[in-house]
Parts: sequence; C-alpha cells; structure tokens
Amino acid sequence: QDLRWQRALRDQFPILDAEPELAYLDSAATSQKPRAVLDAVHTYLTTSNANAGRGTYPWANRTTDLVEATRGRVKEFLHDPEPDRSGVHFTAGTSEGLRSVARDWLVPYLAEGDEILVPFADHRANLDPWLEAARLLAERGIGIRVRELPRQASSGDYDHRALGDAVGPRTRFVAATHVHHVYGGDMNVHRIREAVGADVPICLDAAQSVGHRPVRLDDPSLDVDFVVFSGHKAMALPGTGAVWARNARGPRFRPGGWQGTPNTAGIVSLRAALDWLEAAGPERIARWTTALTTRLTDRLRRMEPYEILGCPASLAAGSVLPAAQRRHGIVTFRHRDIPSDDLGFILFSHGLMVRADSLCQAGADERNGSVRVSLHVYNTVEEIDRLLTVLATMA
Ligand code: PMP
Repeated sequence: QDLRWQRALRDQFPILDAEPELAYLDSAATSQKPRAVLDAVHTYLTTSNANAGRGTYPWANRTTDLVEATRGRVKEFLHDPEPDRSGVHFTAGTSEGLRSVARDWLVPYLAEGDEILVPFADHRANLDPWLEAARLLAERGIGIRVRELPRQASSGDYDHRALGDAVGPRTRFVAATHVHHVYGGDMNVHRIREAVGADVPICLDAAQSVGHRPVRLDDPSLDVDFVVFSGHKAMALPGTGAVWARNARGPRFRPGGWQGTPNTAGIVSLRAALDWLEAAGPERIARWTTALTTRLTDRLRRMEPYEILGCPASLAAGSVLPAAQRRHGIVTFRHRDIPSDDLGFILFSHGLMVRADSLCQAGADERNGSVRVSLHVYNTVEEIDRLLTVLATMA
C-alpha cells in the first residue's frame, strides 16, 4: 500500500511527467514542486497580489493575512509548543537564515571572552556566518573564541564524547546541523543539549530535515532555540526559507532586512508546501526515502570500486549497515578510478540527474569531488535500480 500511496504523490509533480526518461536525484539541492503549490501561487498572483504590511485596500490586506497565516503555519508544522513566544522570519533559504541569526542575534548577544561551538565540516552556509560574526565583533574590539563542534572522522557525526571537553563555562552558543548534506546521517542533536546544559542557545541547520522527516519542537530530544530551513528544499518556490526563533532566551531576535518587500508569492507557496507535506505525512515520507537509501547503500557497498562517504571502513563491505548508520535520503560516493565529474557525466548521459562536485562542504578539497544522490518522496525503486545498473557497469 506504500507503493500506491507513493504513486499517488508522485503523480502530483507535473515536471516529472514532462520528461519521463529523466530521473531527478538532486533533491538535497532543491525539491520539485507539487501541483498544489503551483496552484496556490497562481491563485495568489491572479487574485490578491500586492505588497504586504502596508495596504489599506483588499489585495494588500489579503497579502498581509497570507503572510501572517504562513508564519502560523510554520509554527504548527514544527509542532511549536509555545507559539505565542516564538517568531518566524522569512528568508530566501538556509544560507540567508543562518546569516541573519549570526548578524542580527548572535553579534549583539556575545561579550568579550565568550566561546561559540560551530561545525567545521558541514555545509559552508553553517560556518561562514559564525566566522563573520567573530570578525565583526573583533572589529569592535570584542574578542570571542570560535571552537569546533567536535566530530568523528569515521562516521561524520558529531563526537559526543569529545563534546564534554569542548564545552566550557564561557560556551555561549552552538550551531549544529540536523541531517548532514553529504553523509545523510542524523547528527543526534539531543546529545549536544545534554552536553551544554539548558541555558546555551542552539541554532539548528534543518535544511535537510524539514520536509523529509518529522521535525517536532514538542519532542524533548529536539530542544533547540533556532530552526533554520529552506522552503525551496521542502516543496516551496525557489528563493524561500524561514527562521523559527524560540525567543525565550536572551535578547529577542529582531532580524534585519525586514523593511523591504517580502517574497509574497514564495511565502504563499511555503504555506501550501507545508500543507502538502503535512497531508503526505513526514513520518511516512521518511520511511519511504530511508527504504530507497538503504536499498542503494546496501547494494553500492557490495561494489568494490565505490566508497560511500561517512560510512565507517570498519564495516565490511556487503554487511548490512546498522540502523544508526542508515542514511536518510542522501548517499554520497566516489569511484576508486573514475573522477567524480566524469562519473557525473556518465550518469547524466543515462538521464540520471545527480550532483557531482565538492558539495559546498566546509573544509572539503575542491579537487576531490564526489557524487551525491539525494531523494524525496517522488523518487521510485525503479530510479534507484536504474542508477545501480549504470554504476554496476563501472564496477
Ligand atoms: N545547509 C545545508 C545542510 C544544506 O544542505 C544547504 C543546501 N545545500 C544549505 C545549508 C544552504 O541552503 P540554501 O541554498 O537554501 O541557502
């Protein structure tokens, strides 16, 4: 019955019908859009388009109402237990959201001698803003220390044992990632909260988790203060995203760049996207993509020339990956002999649209690319098997 459920969802993506010989395997970069989202945007632009927050006439009022309704929808979607205390700020994506948390909230929050813990090998968008914040503070004569959120080289996950040593009395902020954009593994954020205690704000880059699996703020294991995500990776239009801020700790988050005209059509699309995802069921979506990913990893690990990134070498190729090592919708690999851009070209020539480069990973060697396959609920078992068939010809 999962097959029938998935088929019905896939049928709602017009782009996938347009060129059925192509397989879209790059959803970690951006997702495709279901018809409900396209229709919501069309309806908005043909009935209510105006600027938000400044009108006294019907279209402007409707636009303002839609923007406010989307703010509420984001809180609901994240199961925010205290929606009256939190805030939602719309952005163009996760990069802008993280920059905004760094510049508009973190910089005024920190004082001389404070320490922040940030990931050095996650998406660059989750490192550069924190380094920039430290630079801005230094220019004002305020010295802070940027420390690495420690990680295990073998699995790509944070090293929760080493975390105890990295945390000190001056630790004032932690930036973390929910699901890694190269390894696809769960970063076990609850361990970070255990290590830093209740009072240190945690900012979560949820670019690869929102829309892919449940992200529930009413779950005690997800005790974070900021959730930053990209709407465009979660079925909404390009140029969309949001920051959810708990606002209960420290100074209130007053994001800058608020005075301009917001991306109202994008915000409308985000509400429709979250409605769509809620109806599909984040839990069920995660089950589907994890099943496809497991099929891909379990077979790929038996093909000798391929190395899956973030997969511990100690696990013998061919053995079944333990559940904790399972990937959620993202598998990144290299071929021993074939450079990744060549491998990418070979896959493109078979209609398989993957990502083949250095994947914007902080600290990654630009010359040492890899191939990333990333999935969403519209991907099928047939697409995975097509990919495996082509990869097997080079094994
Ligand atoms: N963080 C992570 C984990 C990501 O995967 C991405 C997108 N690849 C980003 C940040 C940047 O997102 P955006 O392109 O929406 O700014």
